[in-house]
Amino acid sequence: MTASNFTLLFLAALALSTALRLWLDVRHMRHVAAHRDQVPGDFFGRIELVDHRKAADYTAAKLRLGFVEIAVDTLLLLAFTLGGALALIDAALRDLLGGGHLQGLALFATVAVVGFVIGLPASLYRSFVIEERFGFNKLTLPLWFADLAKGAVLAVVIGGPLLYAVLWLMNAMGRHWWFYVWLVWLGTNLLLLVLYPTVIAPLFNKFTPLEDASLKQRIEALLARCGFASSGLFVMDGSKRSAHGNAYFTGFGAARRIVFFDTLLEKLAPQEIEAVLAHELGHFRHKHVVKRIALMSAMSLAFLWLLGQLIDQPWFYAGLGVGAGSTALGLLLFSMVLPVFLFPLAPLTSALSRKHEYEADAYAAQQTAAADLIAALVKLYRDNAATLTPDPLHSLFHDSHPPASQRIARLHQA
Ligand SMILES: [Zn+2]
Repeated sequence: MTASNFTLLFLAALALSTALRLWLDVRHMRHVAAHRDQVPGDFFGRIELVDHRKAADYTAAKLRLGFVEIAVDTLLLLAFTLGGALALIDAALRDLLGGGHLQGLALFATVAVVGFVIGLPASLYRSFVIEERFGFNKLTLPLWFADLAKGAVLAVVIGGPLLYAVLWLMNAMGRHWWFYVWLVWLGTNLLLLVLYPTVIAPLFNKFTPLEDASLKQRIEALLARCGFASSGLFVMDGSKRSAHGNAYFTGFGAARRIVFFDTLLEKLAPQEIEAVLAHELGHFRHKHVVKRIALMSAMSLAFLWLLGQLIDQPWFYAGLGVGAGSTALGLLLFSMVLPVFLFPLAPLTSALSRKHEYEADAYAAQQTAAADLIAALVKLYRDNAATLTPDPLHSLFHDSHPPASQRIARLHQA
């Protein structure tokens, strides 16, 4: 491989993935707009036309912002690489700090801050204009700043030492460094899976045990049937930031838990809450968290091995607009460029995620009534203004959950 060939390959991949993103979003926008004035047959009588139109408009508003973000991201990546910004920042930091791992950390931090600042207008627009206009935003500027400060501290406290360890291993462990880095990466992820629900998430939200006595009794019966310790059930004050409702399953071992947003509990009837809980228990029963970790581990091992092959090749750096390579530059360039090459493969991971959702739905239909889960899903789609008529191709790339109509059709068969 020569540097100029690699530049061409990178530009071709970037053009392909950017064009694909834009094309999918345009399709999605047209599809949603074309179905805006008619509630789909399966939802007739359950969802009002005014709510259906709101979902269409909300989807369109998010997509319009998305177009701007795709353009900004693409230009930023080009500026960092072929535009020479990364080489410039690297050289400036080298003058300032020398060539050690501290310089590497400063390089990552600078790029992260630049990316954050450039993405800031879009992020603020999303929360304070789009979410606000559709009645979802509960975030205030002070809370936004507090979240930002906590996030930055976490990034420094957790990301800093991790990155330092990775850079050190890459230099110290010889040809097979990628295997040792993988071990550290794996260990950190497992640790985070325990720390996230128990330590990190509580920094941002309050988690309380479920209060409602009759609901609790109903739920404890379900948990006992499914073999899940009831100590793992929590209510989160999601209403602090957003009116969107949700439920999720996280962690493993003693740290595993199911979390209900307070906004979800407010909207659903007790039997519907039970059905949603049964769906989350389906993820637990089918070991979806463990399967996801196994897959991510295998993929990250493959990517680290690939980086191991690239990091000593001069064409890898020169082809991406950086004259002289270094450990930190290699890792940084790789992490910036990899998603460009991976986007066309997004349907594979989405398909796995959708398969898991179907399995969890099927489990819920066994343990509770399918009709209750259907009723809960309809309410969730309505209250979150989630579109019922996504473009099928856009959905294949972007959606972790199957379209509402398909989930409900399967539940009807259950
Ligand atoms: Zn699910």
